[in-house]
Amino acid sequence: MLCKGAASAAPRAEAPNAEARNPEAGSPKAEAGSRFSMPDPATARCQMVDSQLRARGISDPRVLDAMLRVPRHEFVPAPYRAEAYDDHPLPIADNQTISQPYVVALMLESLQLTPQDTVLEVGTGSGYVAALLAELAAQVFSIERHPALADNARRTLAALGYTNVRIFTGDGTLGLPANAPFDAILVSAATLHVPPALLSQLREGGRMIIPVGSSDSQQLQFIRICHGHPVVSLREPVRFVPLIANPESSNND
Ligand code: SAH
Repeated sequence: MLCKGAASAAPRAEAPNAEARNPEAGSPKAEAGSRFSMPDPATARCQMVDSQLRARGISDPRVLDAMLRVPRHEFVPAPYRAEAYDDHPLPIADNQTISQPYVVALMLESLQLTPQDTVLEVGTGSGYVAALLAELAAQVFSIERHPALADNARRTLAALGYTNVRIFTGDGTLGLPANAPFDAILVSAATLHVPPALLSQLREGGRMIIPVGSSDSQQLQFIRICHGHPVVSLREPVRFVPLIANPESSNND
């Protein structure tokens, strides 16, 4: 097991007050000794990073460090927590899913985020990707259409000490015009067509990663704005829940 880098870094994401503010979450140590029939969460993360990410070619040290730090088990519903670091997506509330760690890492790596970047995520879900983005960028805006998921993600992120993420409830296909332009946009749900509003909210040189396709055939598309035009490159095949537009929506935090 390699796990170089962040293993010694102070894990902001495991703030000691996390358990008190979020009784669902439990502390990593308590879980290691009780409900967890797996190594303690830090060791499980280390194994996840080595065997699922590094071994498959994820090499950006900032992405690997962030994935070592963020406690994925805090974002997973209690019945699935023992599987939090396994190599597959998991169910969350409202029939949605928290994505497979490898797919999350692929998407994050493609965006080449800097600590100065402002990022939009569409599809907050559990808040796990928002937490990773918060580790990698200066400011994160994330939109979720299900109010209960948005509330839960807000609570989890606050309990873990994240102060640079704002969660909005509404239709992410509209983006957040008031907070644009963005350096990067990560879309966590699949669409047949890239929403034009999202393209228009990227700054020059801005990047977007988005799963495009139908429910049984999707591919990640990486888009960069060059001289005012989107340049698309096709990436890995993936499977995401659908991006569902609501024309009557307005986005509130
Ligand atoms: N990134 C999430 C996984 C998200 S699953 C995580 O880390 O857990 C995709 C999410 O997109 C779901 O929660 C779904 O409700 C949401 N979604 C689908 N269509 C949407 C839309 N138009 N606007 C905002 N969120 C949407």
